[in-house]
Amino acid sequence: MYNNETTLKKQKNFIAGKYICNDDGKTFKTIHPGNNKIICEVEIAGNTEINIAVASAKEAFESWSKTPAAERGAILRRAATILRQKNSEIASLETLDTGKPISETSVVDIISGAEVIEYFAGIAQSIQGNYIDLPPEAFALIRREPLGVCAGIGAWNYPIQIAMWKSAPALACGNTMVFKPAEETPLTTLKLAEIYQEAGLPPGVFNVIQGSAKTGMSLINHPDIAKITLTGSVETGKTVMKVAANQLKKITLELGGKSPIIVFKDANFENAINAVLAGNFFSSGQVCSNGTRVFIQKSISDEFIKELVDRTKKIKLGDPFDYDTRLGPLISQDHYQKVQKYIKIAKSSKATHLCGGDLPKDASLKEGYFISPAIFANCNDDMKFVKDEVFGPLMSLLTFESEDEAIKRANNTNFGLAGAVFSQNFSRAHRVANQLKAGSVWINDYNITPAEIPFGGYKESGIGRENGIQTIEHFTQIKTIYANLGDVPKTY
Ligand code: NDP
Repeated sequence: MYNNETTLKKQKNFIAGKYICNDDGKTFKTIHPGNNKIICEVEIAGNTEINIAVASAKEAFESWSKTPAAERGAILRRAATILRQKNSEIASLETLDTGKPISETSVVDIISGAEVIEYFAGIAQSIQGNYIDLPPEAFALIRREPLGVCAGIGAWNYPIQIAMWKSAPALACGNTMVFKPAEETPLTTLKLAEIYQEAGLPPGVFNVIQGSAKTGMSLINHPDIAKITLTGSVETGKTVMKVAANQLKKITLELGGKSPIIVFKDANFENAINAVLAGNFFSSGQVCSNGTRVFIQKSISDEFIKELVDRTKKIKLGDPFDYDTRLGPLISQDHYQKVQKYIKIAKSSKATHLCGGDLPKDASLKEGYFISPAIFANCNDDMKFVKDEVFGPLMSLLTFESEDEAIKRANNTNFGLAGAVFSQNFSRAHRVANQLKAGSVWINDYNITPAEIPFGGYKESGIGRENGIQTIEHFTQIKTIYANLGDVPKTY
């Protein structure tokens, strides 16, 4: 089990089933965001290691893509079982690397990833093609084939979960993968690679290379990469898409958001409060689908806002390893500064600052990247902090009068990842849900992402979907085989 004082030996790249040393000795450091202490150094994958990783994934693809689906599924299922058995250990490592409270990582990050692995393990045997009869003397077979070597690029907010969400469907479909975690959070994806191997995954099927955007760029540019799947910012998504366009590689992009939560006066008050708080402050607000624009119908806004603020002031900020902690630090100094900048912008705007946005007074937290959860009311749609993705504990409250107004304003964004409507009027809830321009809309709940339902963005929030059976389409390609049973006409 890890704690906030843990230091580890130097970590390496996991390639072709083993840890290998890089040839130039270059490393970066990873820290615990709760106290800024160095956890360990991590070897950076240079071109040599990237080439070896892609070559090993390419070689492994030959046999993995021909492995019976039942066997692929069985290996994935074993991996999910091991992940569950090691949940406590991996959760504490995730807390060490990300600073997310152990009360979250121990019940969400690993478990939700294991569920996705189990889901795709179950689907592996159902991936099938089609037969089309073409009388009088022909037929066609539609084969669904894997793509080849996929590059996975992860973000730092859900490191192991993202690696599982990407690798599970890729591997179930018969692809192999080279995965680069974010430089801020390199550790748990290595554990995933070890667990896949323990479960029986052949060497080279899942490789982990370490490094920054430069490493990611070299990986996605490699000519033997068939598909890129990224979770990250919109800006990075656009860069990746340009690289992919040059080489016509397939892509899945899970990008940012600035999602609306619309609370009508007939909502169940307590449920709406619970969801708005969790949908803003979970993981210190570092969740792509968070509902950071909260639209409240005017007639209930005073009461609703008072309850939100009362409850927010009681959120326990502290050591992420303390099970009572509900809000941990932000991921890094850079990100901390970015969020502080937005709090400053909000404070100097015409919005009303209701609480939070402060640095903790507790001396034991002063080395970490903590900011107390902040709420601003009387916001308007054009304020910078209301429009931009802040990715921190900053909630913007907006009020509305009519349903049409709420829908129009909720859709007034370049993002389209998620949204929610709280109302006990069944017709209204569905009417609004249908009109929100977002990939996921929850009615009377928030941020619920079971493995079997697709997740992904409209507009600038992304391309493609993760989870759900639809993901199979993003990790396979169709081959049509036309078979003639008769003669070929003599045309010439
Ligand atoms: P980035 O988009 O920069 O990073 C995401 C991943 O992409 C990281 O592994 C990163 O490497 C890698 N990467 C960055 N540039 C390239 C590139 N040109 N080619 C290949 N790989 C690349 O996100 P940040 O970590 O910088 O966060 C910035 C903002 O993005 C946040 O403030 C938030 O708004 C948003 N974000 C959204 C997330 C989501 O879930 N959709 C998750 C995280 C952030 P490395 O980080 O190691 O340099």
